[in-house]
Amino acid sequence: MSDCLFCGIAAGDIPADVIYRDEDFVVFRDIVPTAPTHILVIPVQHHENIAELANADVELAGRFVQTATTVAQQEGVHEGFRLVTNTGDEGGQSVRHVHLHVLGGRQLGWPAG
Ligand code: 5GP
Ligand code: ZN
Repeated sequence: MSDCLFCGIAAGDIPADVIYRDEDFVVFRDIVPTAPTHILVIPVQHHENIAELANADVELAGRFVQTATTVAQQEGVHEGFRLVTNTGDEGGQSVRHVHLHVLGGRQLGWPAG
């Protein structure tokens, strides 16, 4: 999608602090980190949210989660971490290209706000 920020990052047209990429996924640091580790994982292919991705390609959705957990291990958040995928207006999703937040490196609060 030409007007999608994360498609632009996946294509390399918009700069980002990319720490991993392969054929299907790109992993980069959030521009406004809210924890010592705050990484975003996106599929290269445009899907609006996790529901759309899971319905379109369950195998890709599985590897999406696997990629995020592998990145968490590599970042050394061994005391724990959190995967978040905000979905839709009430879910607080601001970028409409599915992404997993990988958060860690401090004690995270719960319940979510
Ligand atoms: P959402 O609010 O959709 O769950 O998360 C979107 C995330 O993307 C936010 O945490 C925000 O800081 C991050 N973000 C927005 N624009 C950019 C950008 O241009 N580059 C990077 N690296 N992150 C961004
Ligand atoms: Zn996109």
